[in-house]
Amino acid sequence: MECNDPRCPFHGSLKIHGYQIEGIVVSNKQKRTVIIRHEYTTFLPKYLRFLRKNSKIAAHKPDCLDVKIGDHVIIGGTRRLSKTKSFAVIKVLQKENT
Ligand SMILES: [Zn+2]
Repeated sequence: MECNDPRCPFHGSLKIHGYQIEGIVVSNKQKRTVIIRHEYTTFLPKYLRFLRKNSKIAAHKPDCLDVKIGDHVIIGGTRRLSKTKSFAVIKVLQKENT
């Protein structure tokens, strides 16, 4: 697939730095943006237990990656691309079989 996206981490000028997060795609309605749900656990010292939490993160989707709802992806930190976007999809781990 041809890639004309200047914000592509592979073909454009976008640099990935900082940490990388794994998540599940919950929305791909927007052009070049996907919403990722990230599940994680935190420790609560008062009750000595782990809590399951999740957060939604907007990430940039370059033209050369095909991302569908339900896919597991890895997103990497970038500079702030818009008000809510500061991550970009860098890898699709697992395609949903439909
Ligand atoms: Zn590309």
